Amino acid sequence: MDYIDLRSDTVSHPTPKMREAMANAVLGDDVYGEDPTVNALEAEAAERFGKEAGLFVTSGTQGNTAALIAHCNRGEEAILGDVAHTFKYEGGNIASLASVMPHTIPVQADGTFLLDDVRHAIRGDNVHWPRTRLIMMENTHGGRGGVPVSKAHIDSVAEIAQEHGLKTHIDGARIFNAATALNTTVADLCENVDSVTFCLSKGLCAPAGSVLVGDKAFIHEARRARKILGGGMRQAGILAAAGRIALHEMTERLQEDHDNACTLAEGLATVPGLEVELDKVQTNFVFFTLREDAKLSPDELKTRLWNGYNIRIGPYPGYERRFRCVTHYWITPERIQTTVKALQELLV
Ligand SMILES: *Cc1c(COP(=O)(O)O)cnc(C)c1O
Repeated sequence: MDYIDLRSDTVSHPTPKMREAMANAVLGDDVYGEDPTVNALEAEAAERFGKEAGLFVTSGTQGNTAALIAHCNRGEEAILGDVAHTFKYEGGNIASLASVMPHTIPVQADGTFLLDDVRHAIRGDNVHWPRTRLIMMENTHGGRGGVPVSKAHIDSVAEIAQEHGLKTHIDGARIFNAATALNTTVADLCENVDSVTFCLSKGLCAPAGSVLVGDKAFIHEARRARKILGGGMRQAGILAAAGRIALHEMTERLQEDHDNACTLAEGLATVPGLEVELDKVQTNFVFFTLREDAKLSPDELKTRLWNGYNIRIGPYPGYERRFRCVTHYWITPERIQTTVKALQELLV
């Protein structure tokens, strides 16, 4: 990438090694179950998470939707966070595609639920009430600044779910960032949940794709759901080839992104007119607010950074002056320095 794009880790392009693997990938028809590269990715992802099976899906949204459909019957209820990606940013898939009733509970600042909120949200057997079927968590929690959620908390929620015969799913779009920040493995973090979706296409740099993992019977159902959702991709090994590098190699370097996020946050804190949320930096997200007394407006800042310096940043959706910067493979320490210097030049 010949420009600096800090808006998200979704903007990351595949690495040269990925492009080479894609060009040379061995292929088959994945809807027939005959693409060896997809099959390898699914098996390797399952193994990495300590689950029985995996399913390569087009996106995190498709993985979460397939999980909802596979876990729940029509009209049943899923408990999920009020700022969860699955509630806020998936176009209402839970209702329109899965026919599942969303029951939201508050997400705390550290990305967790209050366990009493979880217990109170679970319904008993009464003809008036929908049946509770599923509890969905998110890790890292994007809506809470990319915070990693601990194994202890996940296990507490899973235990409540098991006591009530409910299923558990983690929207783990950035679960490898969580495991890195918590100095553990994804298998450990997800040991006691039924299913997990993770994205290959964010900090892991693959051009597209996510993987859903769980037990064999669940993945069998999810595979049906994926076909219905239009996710039968035929020679998808082209994408899975990049995904295998994402899974094996790119997951091992995320600490660099977290370190770079810290350096960026510290650098931004020296720029006049910026209020940096330093205490929030735990993975690859950095938030700052452009103060009212800053030299430029949010729009001017954005435009001048792009036109003058080839740097892309933008206000976080729903905010006027609050920006989110996300580090990834293409944001090197040198590019962090370039960014801080550019902001200094514009705002001093
Ligand atoms: C990105 C993301 C997803 C899924 O996104 P897709 O763009 O559909 O791959 C799901 N949950 C969270 C928390 C995310 O950040």
